[in-house]
Amino acid sequence: MTGVGCVIPAAGKGERLGGPVSKALRDLGGAPLLEHAVRAIAACRAVTHIVVAAPEHLLEEFSSAIAGLDTVADLHVTAGGASRTSSVRLGLAALPAGIDTVLVHDAARPLVPPEVVESVVAALMSGAQAVVPVTRVVDTIKQIDAAGRVVSTLDRSALRSVQTPQGFRRDVLTEALLRARGERTDDAAHVEAIGVPVLVVPGHEDALKITRPIDLLTAEALLRRRMAARVN
Ligand code: C5P
Repeated sequence: MTGVGCVIPAAGKGERLGGPVSKALRDLGGAPLLEHAVRAIAACRAVTHIVVAAPEHLLEEFSSAIAGLDTVADLHVTAGGASRTSSVRLGLAALPAGIDTVLVHDAARPLVPPEVVESVVAALMSGAQAVVPVTRVVDTIKQIDAAGRVVSTLDRSALRSVQTPQGFRRDVLTEALLRARGERTDDAAHVEAIGVPVLVVPGHEDALKITRPIDLLTAEALLRRRMAARVN
């Protein structure tokens, strides 16, 4: 492994969260979500390059949001695309040629703990081609039909919620995105579609995705808890 790069797709509008600014620029405890996410990834020493895929009309705002970060990783902001998959594709293409291992981390998961990032990188270093952090599902999940009737109750013990960062051999993710037909909600789904095994490692409840207003409230509480733990 010659270097680990990370693509941070951050070009979404965040319509479910609402608000006048791009979701990645929304404030969480005095800093934009994006800054938290970049800081969380850069804390992993193996990561040498980070590319943020930003909305095309906000490249300057995104660059200044992370300009003050004290990190040894090389930070770069590039224009994302109309879908999450195209943002990842564009971010991946902006990583230098020497990078053969990549993480993809949602800007919308600002509080991912260092141990999750380290576990994903360690699994890649041990030879995995694709890795995702997961947590157990707490709700019972039912499948419904188009009429809203319950079709079946899924076996919860076999279900997992999937988080980011997801990790990949760069050639595997590049190939999967090249062959991708249509949009998927995570990158590992494209890799699964070309028949590559995807390993799971433990995720963490702090790595929640900020989607709805209540998620921002939860993240604020988690951040306060972290600050208090640091002071005491
Ligand atoms: O829409 P969703 O919440 O699944 O988006 C996950 C991540 O993908 C977010 O960080 C969002 O900014 C990013 N995204 C992107 N380009 C898009 C749409 C979403 O980078 N066109």
